[in-house]
Amino acid sequence: IRGFVPPIKSNGGNTGNVTSRASKGDDALDDSTKRCMDMLCGPDGELPEKLRNLEPRLIEHISNEIMDRDPNVRWDDIGNAGLHHAKKCVTEMVIWPLLRPDIFKGVRSPGRGLLLFGPPGTGKTMIGKAIAGEAKATFFYISASSLTSKWIGEGEKLVRALFGVASCRQPAVIFVDEIDSLLSQRKSDGEHESSRRMKTQFLIEMEGFDNANEQVLLIGATNRPQELDEAARRRLTKRLYIPLPSSEARAWIIRNLLMKDGLFNLSTEEIDSICKLTEGYSGSDMKNLVKDASMGPLREAMRDTKITELKKEDMRPVTLQDFENALQEVRPSVSVNELGTYESWNNQFGSLS
Ligand code: ADP
Repeated sequence: IRGFVPPIKSNGGNTGNVTSRASKGDDALDDSTKRCMDMLCGPDGELPEKLRNLEPRLIEHISNEIMDRDPNVRWDDIGNAGLHHAKKCVTEMVIWPLLRPDIFKGVRSPGRGLLLFGPPGTGKTMIGKAIAGEAKATFFYISASSLTSKWIGEGEKLVRALFGVASCRQPAVIFVDEIDSLLSQRKSDGEHESSRRMKTQFLIEMEGFDNANEQVLLIGATNRPQELDEAARRRLTKRLYIPLPSSEARAWIIRNLLMKDGLFNLSTEEIDSICKLTEGYSGSDMKNLVKDASMGPLREAMRDTKITELKKEDMRPVTLQDFENALQEVRPSVSVNELGTYESWNNQFGSLS
């Protein structure tokens, strides 16, 4: 890359205090920070305008910790997992515009904010990753509660860095988990000055990429949609309810997980009974259940042998009885009362199509 200045460590590699002096030729940067900044440089060897006034260590944090180069979730899995509705909405609203920005402009310009809400463990993060994979977009994952706790006082700058790097990596998907803790309406009185500034910055950035016609999509996920205020709702134009998995979806999860490891040997009737017994289980509860059930054959084999001597082919397949035992250990994590809250919020603010 032209214009590269070899790194010189002037203070033991400490990049702590470089503030707006930051440019990629800065002596104070250590090797890894420099490498990271170089990767973001354009063909002219210069850092894009948007990143020039940002602290290199924040840019590095975004690139190394928040940017996920290989989200590794298959788009097909979303439909199979009972999330057909989400898949259909997202295809039109997100995938097509990210793949064909030339068609989706003017009156067709897409919303830039998508909210996925519903109980925990229902596949919201999975959908976010699948979207990024399908649209060949760079995926950025950040948990809003870490922004408010870990980056206290610096959140505003980190938010700027996040949107700055995403804009250099278009098309991009920024996934903000627990977005309610960032954009909650509860704070106004006692809220810290720094988190108020962060929230404002966040809303400004969202407004910015809306106007600039950038190929950046923000996905917020929350288990507490009722905490979002009006400003947040306005920017998250599409709001999709991601409910607990249906009986068919639960059957698919069991089959899929066991088949992957060659452990599947249940009849349709057995699967049906497991599905009846797992009413109210989330996708992630199902995963834990299958995990526990798959330990059944192993525990049994261990009664007569040592783990070091165990032959895999001697282990019996996973049975309905293993699932019945596992059901005693793995209980549903979402209570029935909580579901009412999601449904009424969905009726009031959710997108139906
Ligand atoms: P959320 O973001 O809604 O809290 P995640 O996407 O993080 O949930 O899901 C937690 C775990 O449960 C993941 O490992 C995911 O693979 C699994 N999971 C959740 N929902 C489903 C589903 N509908 N089908 C398959 N796996 C699921």
